[in-house]
Amino acid sequence: MSTGEIRRVIIIGAGQAGGETAQRLRQGGFEGEITLIGEEPAAPYQRPPLSKAYLKGDLDIDRLMLRPASMYAEERIALLTKTRAVWIDRANRKVRVEGGRELPYDALVLATGAKPRKLPLVGADLEGVYLFRTAADVDRVREKFVSGAKLIVIGAGYIGLEVAAVARQLGLNVTVIETAVRPLARVTSPEVAGFFLDEHTRQGVRFVLGGQPALIKGSDRVTGVALTDGAELPADLVIAGIGVTPDIAIAEQCGLTVNNGIVTDRQCRTSDPNIFAIGDCAARPMVHYNGQIVRLESVHNAVEGAKIVAATLTGGKEHTEEAPWFWSDQYDLKLQIAGLFHGYDRVVFRGVMADRAFAAFYYKGDKLIAVDAVNRPAEYLGAKMLIQTGRTLPPNLLEDMSRPMKELVASAR
Ligand code: NAP
Repeated sequence: MSTGEIRRVIIIGAGQAGGETAQRLRQGGFEGEITLIGEEPAAPYQRPPLSKAYLKGDLDIDRLMLRPASMYAEERIALLTKTRAVWIDRANRKVRVEGGRELPYDALVLATGAKPRKLPLVGADLEGVYLFRTAADVDRVREKFVSGAKLIVIGAGYIGLEVAAVARQLGLNVTVIETAVRPLARVTSPEVAGFFLDEHTRQGVRFVLGGQPALIKGSDRVTGVALTDGAELPADLVIAGIGVTPDIAIAEQCGLTVNNGIVTDRQCRTSDPNIFAIGDCAARPMVHYNGQIVRLESVHNAVEGAKIVAATLTGGKEHTEEAPWFWSDQYDLKLQIAGLFHGYDRVVFRGVMADRAFAAFYYKGDKLIAVDAVNRPAEYLGAKMLIQTGRTLPPNLLEDMSRPMKELVASAR
C-alpha cells in the first residue's frame, strides 16, 4: 500500500512512543484518521520522572504530559483512554477492543511498551508490595513515603537506585537487595557501578548484593523479606524494580514474528507490511550496531521509532538514526549515557570520581563506543557526537583535563 492510500492509522499503546507517533504523523502532513488506543486513564505522559521528581512529590501529573490534553482534539487525534486492544484481524485489517468494538485500519502501529516483571515469590501480592511502571503505581506509593518507614527495594537497576535515592532524601530507611554482585550490572561498568554503590552507601542506603529473596513475609500486609540464606529483613514497604518484559501478547495473537520483542526492519515494519512496531516492545536493526537487531528500553528509542514510522507513512525524509542515549538522576548526580558499553575492552576516565563529576569513556579497540558522564554535560554531548558520527579520540587526549572537551571533539577524526 502506498502512503497516499493510507487513510486510517491506529496506534495501540498511548505511552511516549504512541503519543509521539500520533503527533508526528500530523506534523508530517498526514490528513487521515488517527486513533490512539491506551489502557491508562491519562493522555500520553513521560515515564522517566515517575521514579524521580514525581515520586518525590516535586511534579504533578500535568507536568508529565507529553502534550496538553486539548492537543488531541485540536489535531483530530481520537484518543481512546482506558481502552484495551484485544485482537488484531490482519486479513481484514481490524483491531477489536475490549467490549467488542472493531476499528478498521490501513496502517497499524504497535507501541505496547513493556510490563514490569512481578516478583516470582510467595507474598508478592501482599498489600505494601509495589511495582513501578505507571503514574497510578507511583500514586499508590507516594503517601507511604514518610520519614522513618522501612523500605526494601528489590533490584538495583535504574528503578531501584532512583527510588532508593528519593526515599533517602525523604528520610526512609532503605535496603536494596540485588541478585547480582553489583548494582546497575545491565547498564554500566563495574567502576561506574562502584561509584554509585559508594554514593548510596554514603547516603545511608544498605545493600544486600548477591542476595536472593525467597519470600515476602506478612499475613495481610508486608512485614519483611526473607532471603535464601535464612536472613530476614523487616519492611513496611517493598518496591520491586527487577526489569521489564516487552508486551508482545497482541503481536503473538496475530502471528507476527517475535523474538525478545516484535521484530521489525529498519523502517519499523513487522513481518506484516501494514503493521509497524516501535518503542520498548520492538526490536529492529540499528545502524550504530552494524545492523544487529536490538531492543532498547529508552526515551530515545521511543521517539526515534515514532520519527521513523511517521516519515515512512507520510513519505517524509528518512530519519537519521541517533546513537542511543539514557539518563538517570540520583541525589544531585546526573548520569548521562550515550552508546552501549557492551563489549568494551578499555575504559578511560576524564575527571575523578571523588569530585562527583567525571566521565567514563568505553573503547572497543580504537573505537569509542559509549560514555557514562556524571555531572559532566560537555563530556556527554561531545562523546555522543563522536559516537554518532563514528569518530574517535586517542584515550590519552580524553584523560587530559587541561584540554576543553569541545576542543578535543573538534580535533577528532
Ligand atoms: P533493570 O535495569 O533491568 O534492573 C533490574 C535489576 O534487578 C537487575 O540488576 C536484575 O539483575 C535485578 N533483579 C532481577 N530479578 C531480581 C530478583 N528476583 N531479586 C533481586 N534482584 C533482581 O530494570 P528496572 O530498574 O526495573 O527498570 C525497568 C525499566 O525501566 C527498564 O527498561 C529501565 O531502563 C527503565 N528505567 C529507566 C530509567 C532511566 O533510564 N533512568 C529509570 C527508571 C526505569 P539481573 O540482571 O541479574 O537479573
